[in-house]
Amino acid sequence: MLPVQRRRASIPWARPRCLSVAQRQREACTGLTLKAPVGSVSGMRIVLMGAPGSGKGTQSQRLVERFGIPQISTGDLLRSAVARGTEYGRRAKAAMDSGQLVADEIVLGIIRERLAERDAAHGFILDGFPRNLAQAQALRTMLAGIGAPLDAVVLFEVDYAEIIKRISGRRTCPQCGRVFNLHDASSGSTPRCDHCDDHPPLVQRRDDEEGTVRRRLEVYERETRPLAQHYAAQGLLRTIDADGPVEEVTARLVATLSSVPPAQPSAHAPQTAP
Ligand SMILES: [Zn+2]
Repeated sequence: MLPVQRRRASIPWARPRCLSVAQRQREACTGLTLKAPVGSVSGMRIVLMGAPGSGKGTQSQRLVERFGIPQISTGDLLRSAVARGTEYGRRAKAAMDSGQLVADEIVLGIIRERLAERDAAHGFILDGFPRNLAQAQALRTMLAGIGAPLDAVVLFEVDYAEIIKRISGRRTCPQCGRVFNLHDASSGSTPRCDHCDDHPPLVQRRDDEEGTVRRRLEVYERETRPLAQHYAAQGLLRTIDADGPVEEVTARLVATLSSVPPAQPSAHAPQTAP
């Protein structure tokens, strides 16, 4: 249920504002100085859900760095399974080659295999799955079957107008692939890559065009957003305001997760260092 969309979603979508490398490095250096309480997030099993461009990919990465629990990105897993030629990978490839969506059963199989790996015994962050109610129900059954129920589902609330503005401002260097944002550039600067020697003009990827962004938001609103209710009914839902600087959102996310009581303490893996 994802090939094309996830392939898009895993590239620069994950970065809410892709800036220069120097800026990214600055972000990486300053982003982990948080005041939120630490401790209980390690070992948690979490789903992050949010609209395309809501920054959940970036925030997943922050949690990975901070707590050492692996991020399970279904798009990446699927590509890896295909590349390695596993049983599920072969079936996924057959579906994609014939222009079909990869069946939920295959995606779930790949997730289950990934969760059996050692690092996932200490919790995981699921990013990009589930995307609809049927997937959410199948996931719940699968996780119950392996004794690893979710602790929390975090919904990233963002202003859609802001997402559209941000994403449609993205420009990519055709040579080095770096992503810039017109809205972050100083006024009067020409949209050219300042990392490549010959400063090629930046281009707008089709995925970043406003019409594409609007369509993806519509799909999210129609199919994925309703999962909030589903998870609220199970007592798992936490909502955070995902607008604002990356570090502030990280602080909100960590504070929110730290306040989640473990649903089933006995199911938690021992909280040893990874
Ligand atoms: Zn470049």
